[in-house]
Amino acid sequence: MTNEGLLSLAKEAIENAYCPYSRFGVGAALLCGDGEVFTGCNIENASFSLTLCAERTAFAKALSSGKRDFKAIAIVGGKDKRAEKFCYPCGACRQVMSEFCSEDFELIFEDENGRTDTATLGQLLPKSFDFGE
Ligand SMILES: [Zn+2]
Repeated sequence: MTNEGLLSLAKEAIENAYCPYSRFGVGAALLCGDGEVFTGCNIENASFSLTLCAERTAFAKALSSGKRDFKAIAIVGGKDKRAEKFCYPCGACRQVMSEFCSEDFELIFEDENGRTDTATLGQLLPKSFDFGE
């Protein structure tokens, strides 16, 4: 799976975003070590704190299917479900990723002009919390 292919799946996933409150849609496509891809979108709620991020939706789908090995995630997002600008994950999602991914886990982003950006989880969440095992 190429970065372009993963971004394409993230852009498809954004169409399913449920975001009537913020109108900010996010799509994600998570590549597992065995090549399988799980997509996710954000799912808002009238009780705002119950909102699910696209990234954690994708991880929940993969983890509940038994996956534990992850290579990369593509993330796109913006107003009116347009992949506007680079949509970096929130702090909560970075911490969830750190539970299951190594520091070299790759994150891939694209803006509406087709420019791409990449980062590793280690760059986005250095010195993350763990139990030190
Ligand atoms: Zn998040």
